[in-house]
Amino acid sequence: MSSRQPPAIGIPCREIRRGKNPPRYGQNQAYVRAVLRAGGAPWLLPPIGQGDTALLRSMYERCDGLLLPGGEDVDPALYGQAARRETNKTSPDRDEMELALARWAVEEGRPLLAICRGIQVLNVALGGTLYQDIAAQRHEAGKHDHYPNLPRDLLVHRVLVEPGSRLADLWAGLSPDPWVNSLHHQAVCDVAPRLRAAAHALDEIVEAAEVQDHPFALAVQWHPEELADRDPHSQRLFAALVEACRG
Ligand code: MN
Repeated sequence: MSSRQPPAIGIPCREIRRGKNPPRYGQNQAYVRAVLRAGGAPWLLPPIGQGDTALLRSMYERCDGLLLPGGEDVDPALYGQAARRETNKTSPDRDEMELALARWAVEEGRPLLAICRGIQVLNVALGGTLYQDIAAQRHEAGKHDHYPNLPRDLLVHRVLVEPGSRLADLWAGLSPDPWVNSLHHQAVCDVAPRLRAAAHALDEIVEAAEVQDHPFALAVQWHPEELADRDPHSQRLFAALVEACRG
């Protein structure tokens, strides 16, 4: 690919069913704007599950990098658990598509930024497990589910970055341990073997993870896309994704 051409960043969509409207595929515009701002070409991918690996593969191969966005809970069966009652609606098509995309991107060294559901998808794809509900399973943890009736850019807790991590490198020169937003009720539990935690909240909930021995595969539990119009910490995540795609 010419380095002058904006890298194509694949962003999986969600299915949207509202009233009598026909079902739609779409995604929060904040992801699109954050990728555009960083110089990437956002490329929305409908969640084609249905086991057509060859078709999914052809879509994946057109992407220079991937952004795995927020969304539904991952089906607990995919990490070997029965669903607790606190687990919300799942999306089998998205699970199938995004687990495959995550595994390919990790195995093949393709740049990947995973956000919220994305860090959970990446962890499950690589053999990790999730807390199905932080409030139910980690009583001492702070509140992380600051939604749906609050601003999505509300900064509610800090993240403590692991020294020596790629994330620490990426944020060199910026204020350490920044405040972030938090719109999740699930979180990484057992970190997958190929991942390492790169940041925690003060209550030790994993807030960022990265794939070792990979050009760029970073996952965060907060929502930098909602902050990227003004926050340098967030901007650097998207800039690093696009930069990694340029090689
Ligand atoms: Mn949080």
